[in-house]
Amino acid sequence: MTCAMSGKDIGTMSGAMTCDPQGTCWCAELPRAPMPAQSAGCLCPACLCQDLGVTLDLLGKSAAELRAWMAAFGEPAYRGAQLYHAIYAARRFDFTAMTDLPAPLRARLAAAARIAIPEISRRYHSADGSVRYLLSLAGSPAGGSGAAIPTARVETVFMPSENRQTICISTQAGCAVDCKFCLTAQLGLIRNLTAGEIVGQVLLALEDHRDSLAPRTNVVLMGQGEPLLNFDPVMAAVRIMLDPNGMALAPRHVTLSTSGIVPGIERLSREKVRPKLAISLNASSDEQRDAIMPINRKYPLKVLLEACREYERGNREFITFEYVLLGGLNDTPEDARRVVRLLSGLRAKVNLIPWNPGELPFRAPDASSIEEFRRILVDKGQLAFVRYSRGQDIAAACGQLALIETPAPISAASISAKAPAPPA
Ligand code: SF4
Repeated sequence: MTCAMSGKDIGTMSGAMTCDPQGTCWCAELPRAPMPAQSAGCLCPACLCQDLGVTLDLLGKSAAELRAWMAAFGEPAYRGAQLYHAIYAARRFDFTAMTDLPAPLRARLAAAARIAIPEISRRYHSADGSVRYLLSLAGSPAGGSGAAIPTARVETVFMPSENRQTICISTQAGCAVDCKFCLTAQLGLIRNLTAGEIVGQVLLALEDHRDSLAPRTNVVLMGQGEPLLNFDPVMAAVRIMLDPNGMALAPRHVTLSTSGIVPGIERLSREKVRPKLAISLNASSDEQRDAIMPINRKYPLKVLLEACREYERGNREFITFEYVLLGGLNDTPEDARRVVRLLSGLRAKVNLIPWNPGELPFRAPDASSIEEFRRILVDKGQLAFVRYSRGQDIAAACGQLALIETPAPISAASISAKAPAPPA
């Protein structure tokens, strides 16, 4: 979607974008100026023009955007900070419940804006306490030269533990990366999610468990999609999660997992506030990785691991490597020794994820080969843990997130390398 004033893609603009009913553009990036043909062609998603009948979705907006928007709305800018706190810290999604705002303002907000939390189509409850949500995301129609955003469905998984909950969220509907062990890959890429749709999944899952929340929340960006191929909306959502005035999650409790998109890793390393980085490794040689993760042909192991070394040098942060153990394919002692060599010199932790047999053409590793693999890593000084997926009976073990609608538990069809288990 293109801004009628700047000609820029609206997703890349950092300013608050609104126009008033007199046709003045209030984008923080642009000089205030009359909007050209506002009613006929304005594509600004924040447009208040009554002729267009558009309401602004506040979900996913930063504190700065909300302050600027409030000022454009004719209110003191600090009202934007109050809105920000109400949405992300207090989890109020209905303006009438924002009782620290004056009633007339609440009424004006209700007429001009909305907080579009994803809609729950279905909930699936696992015997282990996990809940898988099938969510409907509203799209928007095409207008002027702006392309339509199609409706989409994604999944989110809530996994409770004794002293924390872990929420696995999607960053794209479907995925184009085509990992061979992942059911999501079979959907192809449907579309990128917006920042609001990404942060909205966390808010929704927390709110759905408001009365039983543990003190700590972990978020893992390991559901549908490759987060680094939807970088700007993902980081806009992550900044809200990590903002002490927003959702106030600790950076070490938010993990972004990538299949190995090297330019995205480099870009992430330059962010001031970052989630933890996890790499979906799953192979001990290029030949193996090419076969199960075609992205490896573009960013082979040498290039990927050099990017990881650079990342680690710059940030002194542990990187997690996820390794799905596929019986007879990548689970031999020689594979374990090659993994040790690949990761040598890196501050790395390895999560070994035994494959769950299902409809994809892989088999589970033997218990003895799982243990031997782990022992070889640990004996060589490499931190390594075996992780088992949660929510397997509800197809919630991330790579199973392929919009499977089934009221009854289904067999554990597959497992993604990306969301095996909540981090310890
Ligand atoms: Fe995409 Fe992740 Fe599935 Fe690979 S494992 S296809 S990156 S969702």
